[in-house]
Amino acid sequence: MQQELLFKVLVIGDLGVGKTSIIKRYVHQLFSQHYRATVGVDFALKALQWDDDTVIRLQLWDIAGQERYGNMTRVYYREAVGALVVFDVTRASTFEAVLKWKDDLDSKVTLNHGKPVPAVLLANKSDQVTSQQPNLDSFCRENGFVGWFETSAKENTSIEEAARCLVEHILNNG
Ligand code: GDP
Ligand code: MG
Repeated sequence: MQQELLFKVLVIGDLGVGKTSIIKRYVHQLFSQHYRATVGVDFALKALQWDDDTVIRLQLWDIAGQERYGNMTRVYYREAVGALVVFDVTRASTFEAVLKWKDDLDSKVTLNHGKPVPAVLLANKSDQVTSQQPNLDSFCRENGFVGWFETSAKENTSIEEAARCLVEHILNNG
């Protein structure tokens, strides 16, 4: 028999880092230079045939407008089981903000047994830099991220891998 699992996943990070673009690329296979900045919270559903018996529905929660304040309400975080924390490799300030977002996440939601919600770090807009990004393995270990990926919503790089990594960690927490 097929089982279906529904996971609420948050996509957080500073304004303009590419959160909406990553979701649109992942869910609708689209990229555009211009997305209407809808104000509020929006979500998109992505179905994954995980294995023969399991369909996973990822409910990806986007934010628009509120990210300029650097924190979100508890209602937004409620019952989330995973997060993608995004920064823009061309803007250092967005990387510095990553820890603020991680703290906001950890202070407002935990799993049932009190463990932090798994979070994957996305170094987005990797198509815009030619030099190699610094390795973020130790940064992730020190700051409680389960992994990191150099992504590009524009060129469709590593978004699926990042989502798969997150889902694996969500399943291991079950
Ligand atoms: P959000 O505010 O975090 O939702 O960011 P958006 O998804 O609205 O993206 C902000 C801008 O960055 C838009 O002009 C996007 O087209 C652009 N953008 C997003 N992802 C990428 C990417 O991977 N590469 C490049 N070159 N531009 C991107
Ligand atoms: Mg957006």
